[in-house]
Order: sequence, then C-alpha cells, then structure tokens
Amino acid sequence: MIRKTDPQTVAPYLIDASNYSGGCASEAVIPESLDELIGFLRANRQPITVSGAGTGVTASRIPSSGTVVSLERFKTIGEIADGSVEVGAAVSLRDLQEFLQDTPYFYPPNPTETLASIGGTLATNASGSRSHKFGVTRDFVLEAQIVLADGRALRLARGAKIDRPLECEGGPPIEFPHTRYESPRCKNAAGYYVRPGMDWLDLFIGSDGTLGIMTGARLKLLPRPADFLSGVLFFDGEEPCWRLAASLREPDRQGISPCSLEYFDSFSLGRLRRKFPNIPGRARAALFFEQDIAERKDYEPVLEAWSDYLNAREVLLDDSWFARDARDVRAFHEFRHELPQMLNEENSRLGRVKVGTDMAVADEYFMEMMRFYRNILSASGIEYVVFGHIGDNHLHVNLLPEEGQVGKAGEVYQTLMDKVLEWNGTVSAEHGIGKLKKKYYRQMVGERALEELKRIKKALDPNLILGIGNTFDI
Ligand SMILES: Cc1cc2nc3c(=O)[nH]c(=O)nc-3n(C[C@H](O)[C@H](O)[C@H](O)COP(=O)(O)OP(=O)(O)OC[C@H]3O[C@@H](n4cnc5c(N)ncnc54)[C@H](O)[C@@H]3O)c2cc1C
Repeated sequence: MIRKTDPQTVAPYLIDASNYSGGCASEAVIPESLDELIGFLRANRQPITVSGAGTGVTASRIPSSGTVVSLERFKTIGEIADGSVEVGAAVSLRDLQEFLQDTPYFYPPNPTETLASIGGTLATNASGSRSHKFGVTRDFVLEAQIVLADGRALRLARGAKIDRPLECEGGPPIEFPHTRYESPRCKNAAGYYVRPGMDWLDLFIGSDGTLGIMTGARLKLLPRPADFLSGVLFFDGEEPCWRLAASLREPDRQGISPCSLEYFDSFSLGRLRRKFPNIPGRARAALFFEQDIAERKDYEPVLEAWSDYLNAREVLLDDSWFARDARDVRAFHEFRHELPQMLNEENSRLGRVKVGTDMAVADEYFMEMMRFYRNILSASGIEYVVFGHIGDNHLHVNLLPEEGQVGKAGEVYQTLMDKVLEWNGTVSAEHGIGKLKKKYYRQMVGERALEELKRIKKALDPNLILGIGNTFDI
C-alpha cells in the first residue's frame, strides 16, 4: 500500500472541479488490492474520504480532516460476458469507452466529463446527455464490490432487497432502518436513494462516498448503435425552442426518439460564439439533439422523419447544423462540453464562487419551470447562463454575480429552489449534494426525513468514518 504524507503529495487530493478550498488531510492512502484496503480499514479509526478522479463539482471528495483513500490502483477492465463487463473503480469513462470501441457494445451513461472514474460515477449516480433515453448510471450497475468503513466486504448484486438484512463477511447482518421518506420521482441524484422494496445496491449508488467504498462493479452494456443522427437546431427565440422540446415528448412521433436533448439559452450562445463563430447571428436559443440508429439502413428514414417533423416547427432550419459524419458528431459533443468548461475556467480566473443549480422537476411542470426561471433571472440584474438537459426538465442555471451581487445571487437561487420544491422536484438531478448543497438538501427532505436518512448512515457506518461532511452533518 502506498502512503503519502508529504503535504505536497497530498495536496492534489484536496481539490475537485468545485473551486472549494477548505480541504485538509494528514495522509493519502493508496491500496493496491482489495485485501490491503480491508486490512487498512480494519485498523483505521480516522475519518476517511474516498477519492475518485476529482471531477466532481460539489467538493464531495475533498476531506475536512483524516485520511484520503484513493482507489487509483483499481484500474482493471475484465472480459465482456453476457453483455456486461467488470470494471475497477479507477477506470475512467474514457478508458472504458476506448476499450469498448472495437466491440459491438457501448456504455451509455455519458457525463460530459470523461475523466470521471467509474467509482465516482457510481457514488454520484452520474448521468449525461444520453441519459434522457438510456437512463442514468444506476440503470447500468448489475453488481458492485463494496467495502464498509470497518472493513466488512460484500459483493452486492441486483435482487438483494432491503426487505432482507444485508449479509457481510466478518460481521453481523445489517437491517435497513424503517423509513417513510421516498426519493422524488423526477431525475434525481440528491442524497440517498430510498424506495420501498428496492435493491441494497441502489442505496450505495449515489451515496456520495458516505456508505461504502466501491472497488469495482459489473456494468450492463448495450448493443452499440450503428450510428447517431445528431444536430444543433437554432431558434430565434427561447419559447419556440421550449415548445419543440415539449413536443418531442408526445407519444406519436413517427420514428423520432432522441437520446439527447440539450438546451442553450442566448447567453450560452453568446459565450460559445467566441469558440464557434459560425453560430448564426440571429439565434437566441439552441437545441442539441441526438438519436441512436440501431442499423445503418435506418439512417435515411430517421433523417427524413426528423426533416418532416422540423419543417412544420419554428426552427431556423437553414441555419441549423446536422452531422454528416462521425467527426461532426464528435464536434457537436465538443460544442456541448465546451460551455461548462468555459464557465468553470471563467469562474476560476475571476475568483468567482460558482452559483449553479442542478434542479429538476417532473414533466408536467416543464413549461412553468422555464417561464419561472426566465422571469426571476431576467428581473435579478445578475448575469446568468442557462443550459443543460432540457429533455429531463433538468437545466443548469449558472448565476455569474459581480462582487457586490453574491448575496443577491443566493436569494435568486433560493427563490428558484423554493418553487422547484413546491413542485416536488429535486435540488440535485446529477451532481449530488456533497459539501456544497447540504442546506438545500435539508430543505428538500425536511427534518423528519433527515433523521431517517441519518439512521441509514449509522446502520452502515456506525463509527461515522466515511465521507464525513457530505450530504448532511451528523
Ligand atoms: C466539465 C464538467 C462536466 C460535468 N458534467 C457532468 C454531467 O453531465 N453529468 C454528471 O453527472 N456529472 C457531471 N460532472 C461531474 C462529475 O464528472 C461527476 O460527478 C463524476 O461522477 C465524478 O466522478 P469522479 O471520479 O471525478 O469523482 P470524485 O469527484 O473524485 O468524487 C465524487 C464523489 O464520489 C465518491 N467516490 C469516488 N470514488 C468512489 C468509490 N470508488 N467508492 C465510493 N465513493 C467514491 C467521492 O468520495 C465523492 O463523494 C461534470 C464535471 C465537470 C468538471
């Protein structure tokens, strides 16, 4: 096992993509095998924060004290069997995608940050643009190897329900505490996933490094589509774009079934024009779409279906972009990826604290939500950018306050959140709670549920060792 104690070698583990600067740890421990990890945990009494690739945006891998456990040596990818593959926690999404490139399979969860580790994506239940159709990380985890904070190890598979105690090697079975709380029904990555009769596995997925250390997982793969039809549609106003996004959910769409639907408001386009000067001058909103094509012979009919569909809509069709080959598809993904990166870079350069939302609601509130956001934001006098997963009613509102506007930005955030919670939405649909959104999570679940969720934490980590400071204070 590698142990790093020199502050300079520990420092890289005290940051992530959130700009949070309060990290502190006396040591970074890097086990080279499952047995080493178990041995270390059995002897350990210090708080532990698990480290993935550090691409998280909620400071959840940043420790406040104690020891960092990095799984960076768990990098193996196994053989594909029965449409699934066993993957070590530190394998990055990029490594996995490259491994699958020459196979008939693909792994759909596609957060735009491909340096993220599989362990990190499980711990945050990461999702991405293609989750609109294919689902989120949770939907692709068949089994996971997990070690609890006291060194008890378990291999959890689908079908092991919380109605029965959890059996672990080296300790008594664990009962799931009685809870009345249920996670919201919209896309959600906030706190623990709790549903009646669910799998134990689902509790660990999305638990933000607070319930167990996942050293590897068996992931479900899907047959690789022969192609993707994709494009960037431009609109001369925001509402026409919202209307198109809403219409794409209607049942009868004659072969149209996008897997990605990503929105850019006029301020997003303003920023993107610096890198993509060919964005049409009159565009005030854009929609990036993708549709997976199972077999090549289906490409032309699907393209025709989109063309007929869009002809009857309020799209700036002549100005819109349609991919002609795989290079264009990659370029459109870059277009989508560029914006959060630009904003992160801009925030770091200006020393600006990120005030970004990650909220989602159920379909029925979509149009109301869009109008509410626009009205509140435009009245705030604060610069802002809205983009993201419009197909899931999940938009990222990024407030970009000047120095004297930080308090006001917090108020705007609160106003948006109060409304989202009135609609039974979530405060985090993909990034998780970490250390930065605990206040919002508390409001979302309420005091009674928070106590129930703390009982779950204590059942699995009775000495309160793992991921302390994430999700809620205990
Ligand atoms: C530009 C950019 C774009 C992004 N876009 C998206 C997006 O579209 N969708 C999305 O969901 N996210 C997105 N993210 C956020 C981030 O990529 C995800 O949260 C990702 O899942 C984090 O993985 P990581 O390996 O970097 O985890 P880290 O940041 O290292 O850790 C995140 C959490 O996981 C825990 N953890 C890590 N590994 C393990 C493990 N093996 N066992 C138990 N707990 C563990 C940590 O303790 C921590 O709580 C984006 C980030 C950036 C910078």
